[in-house]
Amino acid sequence: MSSSSWQLDHEAAAEALNRLRSAQLVLTPTHQTVDADGLASAIALRLGLRQLDIELVPVLSDGQMPHSLRFLPGIDEVLAYGRDSLPDYDLLCLVDCSDRRRLGSFYTDDPERVSGNVPIVNIDHHVTNDLFGQVNIVEPTAASASEIVAQLLAEWGVEIDRDIAQCLLAGIYGDTLGLRTDSTTSRTMRTAADLVDAGADPVPIVDALFRVKPRSTVCLWEKALRNVQYTGGLIWTELTKDTLDRCGANASEAEGLVNFLVGTQGAGAAALLYANDKGWRVSMRSLPGAVDVARIAAEFGGGGHPRAAGVQIEGGEDEKRAFVEQVGSLAAEHG
Ligand code: 5GP
Ligand code: MN
Repeated sequence: MSSSSWQLDHEAAAEALNRLRSAQLVLTPTHQTVDADGLASAIALRLGLRQLDIELVPVLSDGQMPHSLRFLPGIDEVLAYGRDSLPDYDLLCLVDCSDRRRLGSFYTDDPERVSGNVPIVNIDHHVTNDLFGQVNIVEPTAASASEIVAQLLAEWGVEIDRDIAQCLLAGIYGDTLGLRTDSTTSRTMRTAADLVDAGADPVPIVDALFRVKPRSTVCLWEKALRNVQYTGGLIWTELTKDTLDRCGANASEAEGLVNFLVGTQGAGAAALLYANDKGWRVSMRSLPGAVDVARIAAEFGGGGHPRAAGVQIEGGEDEKRAFVEQVGSLAAEHG
């Protein structure tokens, strides 16, 4: 674990606040297949900025609300793209979003939305962030976007109340698997401790994110584990729409499976492939010291972090095979 910590760019933080203050309404579309960090950091911004009379509205970019995140305070104030009409907005504030393509349908339905005509404040912690904002607060060594938002809100004079603290702790726990990843620093732990002091309760977070699940999740894992394959240094499995249907499961229920696969002896990396209309959405993991999956993902047009990354593979079985073999040989080379 590292005790080194990132430094907030105070100038960018001040400029971001200026832009937020002069906006009529700020829209915060989350990244697609949103996770705890992506959604909780957006809600924390909404709740915090409300104290400064700034209206920020989070929107689920693909319209999908993962069941496991319904426990977040303020969840009822989140809009779903495609279901709810969008309010007029004059500023975008993106959080936990490494590039604009991560915005799912919100982007693909009208790429002009994020072409810069409406200014963008970009708050993120991905090493692959392409700095698409007019203001960029990007700290790749922060373990989660929520860790950055915690410091930003404090810098802006927001009082971290119990609901904000609960959201931010959920975001931190989500991206660090409960303070367990190698991205976790002593500062991450201090921030988490401060949030507990502010009223956050880790128990419902741990239950919702890591323990409580519907039976359909067990069905899905059972089928996925039966199909595990080893290619070079890669352990991987695939989920088809048919498997999801047969289990009555949602794709978000497979989150956690790739974290279980990584660390299998003899495999330097793990991948979970979700079949979709275009090909496969791939979720990748590696252990410290092994292959950098963010670099592999970036080569294929995706991104993420050195130990957790993702990409969309387009094509059919040949493209899938080529991808798996390439990752497998890189994973074998880099232990
Ligand atoms: P997960 O495997 O949990 O879906 O994603 C792991 C990490 O990779 C997350 O930080 C996520 O933001 C990033 N990631 C996943 N899929 C993609 C993708 O298609 N493009 C980019 N740029 N990042 C991704
Ligand atoms: Mn994140």
